[in-house]
Amino acid sequence: MHEYTRFFIGGDWVEPAGTGTIDVVSPHTEEVIGRVPEGTDADIDRAVAAARQAFDHGPWPRMTPAERAEVMGRLSAIYAANAQAMSDLVVAEVGTPALFSIFAQATIPQMTLQYYVDLAATYTWEDERPGMQGPVTVVREPVGVVAAIYPWNVPQFTLIMKLAPALLAGCTVVAKPSPETPLDAYLLAEWVKEAGFPDGVVNFVPAGREAGAHLVAHPGVDKVAFTGSTDAGRKIGEVCGRQLKRCTLELGGKSAAIILEDADLATTVEGFKLASLMNNGQACAAQTRILAPRSRYDEVAEALAAMVGGLAVGDPADFGTEIGPLVAKRQQERVEGYIRIGQEEGAKLLVGGLDRPYDRGWYVAPTVFGNVTNDMRIAREEIFGPVLSLIPYDDEDDAVRIANDSEFGLGGSVWTADVDHGIEVARRVRTGSCGVNLYGMDPNTPFGGYKNSGLGRELGPEGLEAYLEHKSIPRPA
Ligand code: NAD
Repeated sequence: MHEYTRFFIGGDWVEPAGTGTIDVVSPHTEEVIGRVPEGTDADIDRAVAAARQAFDHGPWPRMTPAERAEVMGRLSAIYAANAQAMSDLVVAEVGTPALFSIFAQATIPQMTLQYYVDLAATYTWEDERPGMQGPVTVVREPVGVVAAIYPWNVPQFTLIMKLAPALLAGCTVVAKPSPETPLDAYLLAEWVKEAGFPDGVVNFVPAGREAGAHLVAHPGVDKVAFTGSTDAGRKIGEVCGRQLKRCTLELGGKSAAIILEDADLATTVEGFKLASLMNNGQACAAQTRILAPRSRYDEVAEALAAMVGGLAVGDPADFGTEIGPLVAKRQQERVEGYIRIGQEEGAKLLVGGLDRPYDRGWYVAPTVFGNVTNDMRIAREEIFGPVLSLIPYDDEDDAVRIANDSEFGLGGSVWTADVDHGIEVARRVRTGSCGVNLYGMDPNTPFGGYKNSGLGRELGPEGLEAYLEHKSIPRPA
């Protein structure tokens, strides 16, 4: 049992203002495995005040990027030395299979942190340009106090994508973890303290959406960095728009994997284990619409059903597990609801369905629907579970049209024997990323969404820009 009674605010562990608590429940055993205080508006106010004080009067924004990178480098080293402990915690909270967790829930977040540590030395922090009246110095300054609000599915990665560039820029941060995943945030807070950040630079308040909304609207916050659902993103964007507050929004997706005529089916379908079913299908960029040429439809349907039907479903802590439970009962019910909708819409159940693999734990059978048309709800709405829709297409133009016929534009992939041609097809897909023969994200390349998948980019130098204001200082020649 992981039990915490205080918040990390202003560089110290402080008593909560309220008496509410959040129980963290294991998706595998349904038992309570942790308890933390639930943040209230008053706790948010205190955290914003600490971050404000640290930004307006503390050393952090006034230090050089190299000095900040040194402190961040200490955090990165602690993280690297303890990545397994972080991974284990996220396995317990989220139900992520252990093998994927060490990679996505700990190692990649640490690599992302280290990427920004290293970027300090090569990034152009200021430059000199010839102006009409004389030289102009263009400087980059931190945007201010950042509210980092993030979801439960990849809590460390979605937080570090915000925290690392914000800190390097010189911002101070109030992080609000989801109620499902506060424990990994506590571990990170301990490491932040150990690394020796100045007081108030990083603050954590786990809380629900009401306190989250209070944080977004708080006049002491200069920028909101949000990852979560499109519905919540829209509300947050409205508030930020009214206040002209900077915001980046990383939202939902319904990404398409286009299998071209010449694709090697065995490696393609194997690739979907990660691209489509990572984190038990609870991934914003999961390739859940599988587009197959009509000429190879039967072959693809058979191979896909065999792969998904053969997945090892079970205890996420077991390194042999490929699919674990969903994060919460509510999520299990939501996904089962979509399986029902698929059946009612007339899609053909190829494998999986409503029979639960286990009585205990929030498991759903990995499921594939065939004969799906792109107007069905299972092809249009984000399910956020291990449910794939197989959609036949006539020719390449038709495949690109179907891929782009979505309110979302987050990820995508093209599977082919001809990589150059795959890149040509990927260029036609209107999404923030589109892989060829894989789907992945890298710390040094931008990630984000077109259309209803969001606004702005995280990762890479582009992700740092989102925490900087550019200021021009002209002077006479
Ligand atoms: P959610 O939108 O319900 O919650 C996300 C976070 O925002 C939580 O911390 C929640 O407490 C908070 N929140 C919710 N409403 C808020 C509001 N009005 N004001 C302030 N805070 C608010 O999403 P979820 O169910 O936790 O996560 C799943 C969603 O996240 C999916 O839609 C998924 O696609 C998306 N996601 C997107 C990305 C990406 O990078 N594009 C990555 C991971 C997850």
